[in-house]
Amino acid sequence: MGDCAAKGSGVDIPLPPPYHGIHVGPAWDDHERITWLKPTPRSDRVRVRRHTCECKPTIYELCQAGGLLFVRRTEREPEVKVRETERLITVRIVPLWTKLLTGEAR
Ligand SMILES: [Zn+2]
Repeated sequence: MGDCAAKGSGVDIPLPPPYHGIHVGPAWDDHERITWLKPTPRSDRVRVRRHTCECKPTIYELCQAGGLLFVRRTEREPEVKVRETERLITVRIVPLWTKLLTGEAR
């Protein structure tokens, strides 16, 4: 009893690889078409709740403004182009965000 194996203490634990965020899946062949609107300048403060990985040329952000949420798409190539979905309540935006990530909607 009490046969303690060496725990390897003192061995440096390697650092995890550089962190990647969420990667969106490839769009399905018959994916739902999201209506992307030109962003309208508004005075309300926007908070980014979730975002996809910065390593991709197109980034999607789940944004909150007031009590409503929307998805913002930023294409960085060949030039920066920003589009947004309509603003929805949480229970309506979450399924859309999920479908976007899986490729079921784009
Ligand atoms: Zn990445």
